[in-house]
Amino acid sequence: MKTNFTKEKIVKNFKAKLSKIGEHLLNIMYPKHIKCIFFGEELTEKAYNDTCVDCWKTLPFVERPCLRCGGSVEEVQGNVCLTCHKLNHNFVSARAVFDYTDMIVGLVHKFKYNNKSFLFEPMSNFMTEKLSTWGIEPDIITFVPLHKNKQKSRSFNQAELLAKSIAEKFDIKCIGLCEKIVDNYSQASLNFKDRQENVKDAYKFINRHKQEVKNKIILLIDDIMTTGATADEISKVLLNAGAKEIYVLNFAHRSLFEETKK
Ligand SMILES: [Zn+2]
Ligand SMILES: [Zn+2]
Repeated sequence: MKTNFTKEKIVKNFKAKLSKIGEHLLNIMYPKHIKCIFFGEELTEKAYNDTCVDCWKTLPFVERPCLRCGGSVEEVQGNVCLTCHKLNHNFVSARAVFDYTDMIVGLVHKFKYNNKSFLFEPMSNFMTEKLSTWGIEPDIITFVPLHKNKQKSRSFNQAELLAKSIAEKFDIKCIGLCEKIVDNYSQASLNFKDRQENVKDAYKFINRHKQEVKNKIILLIDDIMTTGATADEISKVLLNAGAKEIYVLNFAHRSLFEETKK
């Protein structure tokens, strides 16, 4: 009985490995780096990070970040956005590379839902550049986990791919420190208050990493931050586990206020 179980497990593992290798081969075989990652234009030698010259000119970089959440703030607002004036975050500070404009939405959707996982490379390059000018020195990099059901249906965790790639470039340990224990609604469809409720107690620290996080500075990676509810919840979990400080780096920051204004 026991032997059968083990055999089954080996076959299962092997199948999983094969499909991973297959996925990797597909990514290599298809000419993924020839076109611009945003709108598919041909790239000239002036292109940088798989982005054509025209797209580069219109990239919505966050120029003036809120010093707490990392979203764009107007100069008249000072250094902290309206939301962060009212809200206390569990992380010290967050940054994002881009504002969440249509151009960025398109790219993130291709990455997450159209199975173009190879986009993690240019996306993480943007994030690596941001981190290199931020002035923080994390001991550990971690990522927002997906619930196992969601990870199964998507076959990869976008935040994990980004985190591993960034960690590799900085030679920092990347560890999955938390698991998502509640398979809740997607945050995308919810308003501010519901987002906080939705993620409450949804994440759990993986106890075998307890010694590793003690007094450590941890950088949490995600693709998009909106209200910061997810980052706050995970930061709480990490601080309770003994971490010293949490910082958050996102590919893009999406302002809920901007959306309600539209
Ligand atoms: Zn382009
Ligand atoms: Zn803010």
